[in-house]
Amino acid sequence: MDKQTVRDFDPSGKRVFVRVDFNVPLEDGKVTDDTRIRAALPTIRYLLDKGAIVILASHLGRPKGKVVESMRLRPVAERLSQLLGRSVPVTGDAIGLGTTDALARLKPGQAILLENLRFHPEEEANDPEFAKTLASYADVYVNDAFGTAHRAHASTVGMAELLPAYAGFLMEREINALSRLIENPERPFAAVLGGAKVSDKVKVLENLIAKCDVFCIGGGMANTFLVAMGHTVGKSLLEADRVDDAKRILADAEARGVTFVLPTDVVVAKEVTRGAERKVVQASKVPNSWSIVDVGPSTVKAFEEALQPARTVLWNGPLGVFEIPTFGDGTRAMARFLAERADDGVTTVVGGGDSVAALDQLGLAEKMTHVSTGGGASLEFLEGITLPGVAVLRDREAA
Ligand code: ADP
Ligand code: MG
Repeated sequence: MDKQTVRDFDPSGKRVFVRVDFNVPLEDGKVTDDTRIRAALPTIRYLLDKGAIVILASHLGRPKGKVVESMRLRPVAERLSQLLGRSVPVTGDAIGLGTTDALARLKPGQAILLENLRFHPEEEANDPEFAKTLASYADVYVNDAFGTAHRAHASTVGMAELLPAYAGFLMEREINALSRLIENPERPFAAVLGGAKVSDKVKVLENLIAKCDVFCIGGGMANTFLVAMGHTVGKSLLEADRVDDAKRILADAEARGVTFVLPTDVVVAKEVTRGAERKVVQASKVPNSWSIVDVGPSTVKAFEEALQPARTVLWNGPLGVFEIPTFGDGTRAMARFLAERADDGVTTVVGGGDSVAALDQLGLAEKMTHVSTGGGASLEFLEGITLPGVAVLRDREAA
């Protein structure tokens, strides 16, 4: 990675502001999934062990610039304290006198969590005064919130411009894994793309088609490709205004000699609801009043055959409406297949909130080479965009 990290400065006795992504799900005042908190632990522990004063800050949810009681970070601080084995208090507000007082009392080896940054509209507006206030708390800035690195906010860009800025370990891991994919993947390199819409991912498709050897398309987005091939898709999710994009991508794949695998059979359902009647049909014979909800068994086989020689596989987007278990066979089969490939030494990288949720349901996330914690951020990275929160970090000096 061409960015400097927490290893590149001496944290001892320094006030280190660490932007983390603690945007975790809460229910009844309890954290229901602490994956994101755990993911930031290596950086926090490292800095505390080296005698830094650690000032943690995050957003949670979408409070839209106002205090929303249910989006306070207290439950997060409680869970973090448990995981760290030392108490991490949370301030009543990200800024203000109470906060500066609390910060002044901190000693090396202690940490504090600022209250939800997005209670202030200045955060998302990247307000210069707000950024200056946050920067005044610290000597050094560390960004370990890959999931928000695609946003130019006060805590991700504004304040980072005012302090020596470094990447945390999680940020480093994400950048290394994803940049390796688009810069120097071990070949053959395959992408499995699914999820709801072509429109969400058209730029990812365009960028990856120039880099991949194999493309497998499932999920809702495959429907638009099926229509581009001249099929009809009944009541399925379809983006009619994206059919031309799909045609262009298909033509590009052909011109580049990319193996492009689309569903040959699909699971269709009368309704996209739990318990609805379903059956497997040829992708060219989707009945008018039915909806495609998953890839079919022959398609799963074809995907696996196409992916078998790959040394690197990127997966983004579920292959069906996996939230309804009976429409999740394709997604589950892909997760299991990639876990096996990873066991054989293949590099497997999974990105996308819903794809990762599907992996977690099966307990297979651990098996993968890399599971990205950033949904939108990893997509933008794969589009080839330089993320503003990454760009602002110190460059490594050329060797
Ligand atoms: P990710 O978060 O992994 O990037 P997306 O957000 O793009 O994935 O897409 C996930 C959604 O796509 C899921 O909610 C899933 O139900 C939906 N989906 C997958 N296949 C279909 C389909 N055939 N029809 C409609 N929706 C689908
Ligand atoms: Mg999603």
